Amino acid sequence: MLYIGSHISASKGYEAMGKQALKLGANTFAFFTRNPRGGKAKAIDEEDVKRFLALAKEHSFGKLVAHAPYTMNTCAAKEDIRRFARETMADDLARMEFTPGNYYNFHPGSHVGQGSDTGIAMTAEILNEVLKPEQTTTVLLETMSGKGSEIGRNFEELKEILDKVELKEKMGVCLDTCHVWDGGYDIVTDLDGVLASFEEVVGLGWLKAIHMNDSMNPLGSHKDRHEKIGQGQIGINAMEQIINHPKLQGLPIILETPNDDAGWAKEISMLRSLHKSE
Ligand code: FE
Ligand code: FE
Ligand code: ZN
Repeated sequence: MLYIGSHISASKGYEAMGKQALKLGANTFAFFTRNPRGGKAKAIDEEDVKRFLALAKEHSFGKLVAHAPYTMNTCAAKEDIRRFARETMADDLARMEFTPGNYYNFHPGSHVGQGSDTGIAMTAEILNEVLKPEQTTTVLLETMSGKGSEIGRNFEELKEILDKVELKEKMGVCLDTCHVWDGGYDIVTDLDGVLASFEEVVGLGWLKAIHMNDSMNPLGSHKDRHEKIGQGQIGINAMEQIINHPKLQGLPIILETPNDDAGWAKEISMLRSLHKSE
């Protein structure tokens, strides 16, 4: 089964997101838990959530991959920014429980000159403050491109964060194809080698989702500029290998490509046609 979808606007609620996903030919999707630049989250309408859950069940949706706001920096130097991150994540995770058993992806953060070790420790500290034993949501660290002072720029840094988290069973990793490529992992000519390295450093059991994006820039550029599937430096052959790789089957695949609805529908149907078991 190929679970694939794109980012969908959360402004009209859960059922509207589900219907929009179906319109695009998707059976999973990503959404921002609140405005990507931060701010207050919309109140949850439980009837709307119920209708969505029925629709998702009826259409055999895969796990959703919610995305935390970009402004959330768990390893900022300023305490008020970290307080915002802590409160946002705690509130988001409480909201995620209305749609149980899904994924909540976030950028591990930017250490803003404090150094990776400090950044890693700060991010793990907030996770230890907000994760709850009773939660059904799995929190995913996104692989980052290493732009600026981002942490999570390589598999080792992700592993260091995971090592410091107490409730490890609540954690996972989301692999962003543009970010790992920009981070220097050659998924074009050596996908097996990259996955072997992930297995060795982190363990493939931690890999829960994929952000599928082409990249405007060459391998190791640390730029993080997404391109449409097949129109960047990664190319369609690598994407075909990824969706068909035996070690990556069943993971929800989320497109974060610069597209409109028609563009996403096209990419979803193209990738479905390239998936061997369908
Ligand atoms: Fe992201
Ligand atoms: Fe991403
Ligand atoms: Zn990105």
